Amino acid sequence: MAEQENAAASKQVDEITQQVEDVILGEDGKPLSKKALKKLEKELEREKRKQERLAREAEERAARAASEVDISVGSYGKAKLNMSQERTGRKWTEVRDISEALEGQVVHVQARVQTSRATGSKMCFLVLREATATVQALLQVDSEAISKQMVKFASSIPSESIVEITATVVKPIEPVKSCSVGDAELRVAKLFVISDVVKLLPFSLEDASRSELEYQKDPTLVRVERSTRLDGRVFDLRTPANNAIFKIQAAVCQLFREYLIKEGATEIHSPKIISTASEGGSNVFEITYFKRFAYLAQSPQLYKQACIAGDFGKVFEIAPVFRAEDSNTPRHLTEYIGLDLECAFREHYHEVMDMIGDMFLYIFRNLEERWAHELQVVRRQYPSEPPKFGDKPLRLEFKDAVALLRNAGEEVGELDDLTTPLEKLLGELVRKEYGTDFYMVDKFPLGIRPFYTMPDPEDSNYSNSYDFFLRGQEIMSGAQRIHDPALLRERIKALDIDATPLEDYIRGFEYACPPHAGGGVGLERVVMFYLGLDNIRLTSLFPRDPSRVEP
Ligand code: ATP
Ligand code: MG
Repeated sequence: MAEQENAAASKQVDEITQQVEDVILGEDGKPLSKKALKKLEKELEREKRKQERLAREAEERAARAASEVDISVGSYGKAKLNMSQERTGRKWTEVRDISEALEGQVVHVQARVQTSRATGSKMCFLVLREATATVQALLQVDSEAISKQMVKFASSIPSESIVEITATVVKPIEPVKSCSVGDAELRVAKLFVISDVVKLLPFSLEDASRSELEYQKDPTLVRVERSTRLDGRVFDLRTPANNAIFKIQAAVCQLFREYLIKEGATEIHSPKIISTASEGGSNVFEITYFKRFAYLAQSPQLYKQACIAGDFGKVFEIAPVFRAEDSNTPRHLTEYIGLDLECAFREHYHEVMDMIGDMFLYIFRNLEERWAHELQVVRRQYPSEPPKFGDKPLRLEFKDAVALLRNAGEEVGELDDLTTPLEKLLGELVRKEYGTDFYMVDKFPLGIRPFYTMPDPEDSNYSNSYDFFLRGQEIMSGAQRIHDPALLRERIKALDIDATPLEDYIRGFEYACPPHAGGGVGLERVVMFYLGLDNIRLTSLFPRDPSRVEP
């Protein structure tokens, strides 16, 4: 019984304690008065009503937004992934072809968004770029077709995305100075992103497109280091100047081909995996070739001569050349494109030398005429004057070059090769004296030329060999080659070269071969010096040098 009484009492104590704990205490720790409690209740009520009102307003806003019709739906957005689902037959206009002449016409354009700039919420300016051409496009909110949402979408497109637009060509109030198309702009009606930028760009194309002059005017502008540009070469190729440089590179090949085909030459393709180092052993890349070794061709020399022995008359080749030289200079690559040629002649190697000289003039003149736009684009970023040259190429002899240099106070050995600084100085002296940036130096000392070079019949210290120079730097080496097997063997022996790997080559001459001469041109060097650029890496698509084999 007593236990039951105890339990009842303790329950009562618990209840009272609970009641005491339920009493609301004020800040001073004492129970609140009735009045204070009332005030608190009112405050709570007010807060509750405020929360309800905010929720209601948010709901109303959402409902309003949902009911506001976007009149541009279907005219903009991200396009479906192109999996070649259909051909609509639309006629596409290239940015470079847009002009005042198309005023009022509706055009379809695919281009990159170079920049997108909103002015307020009702207007957006886009600069669209296709290769080297740019045009301004405009979206403006109106009550019929262009919604605020569409303008907002346009202004949020990241630079370098590719879009597809339908637009009307209009005449701008003032010429658009910042675009290559200045006399027309586009009023956008439809705008779809067909390829998105999904990664941070390695640098800004604007920064990579500036000329030295702009940096001089404003030294605070961001510079992009050459190595950063080459690391991001895939992106770097998009700059207008780079686009144009490689158009010009292709043009040099096209004109080389054009000229030589007109001369009756045959284009050949010689092997690049070879068993003999064609120009001597030192600067050759060795490769493993199944269970033995082979080399990468340092030049097509032996093979183009074999074609002469094979009665092709005149041959040329445009192909890679590999040089394992640890040359870290502005004009050496470990892989470059060689423009090579070899021609049989009747009487004198000058027949070939003169033809090559005329060929270069043909290339230069046609570049200025037919690739004027590309040259202009390159010169905008890398200003230079076209090289100077006359109606006929200037021909100097090596002895004359030495005399010119000695007159200028340089110490030059009569039979020594010219160093790069001496070559450059010679270029300046020749320009002053003869007013040309393009010239040929003939009759090099025999001792500094390869074993297959024909000696000069009048002075055995010299040879029937030549280099061509553009703005004071070598673009081609060539010579009459020894087609007489006995003389060839004599030279090989005199130079202490192992004849064994050359037996196949010599055999071509033992079966009789016409006299012939030719040369090897470095494509990247021609483009570099023609454009007055300071580094060969600018004219090589994906340059290879001793420290770079990627990307
Ligand atoms: P250089 O003296 O400038 O090193 P080279 O006399 O050794 O050149 P050649 O064997 O005469 O070169 O090659 C013919 C042409 O090929 C040169 O006139 C040049 O235009 C080009 N060329 C040679 N080596 C390179 C290289 N490493 N990178 C780019 N072009 C080259
Ligand atoms: Mg040379």
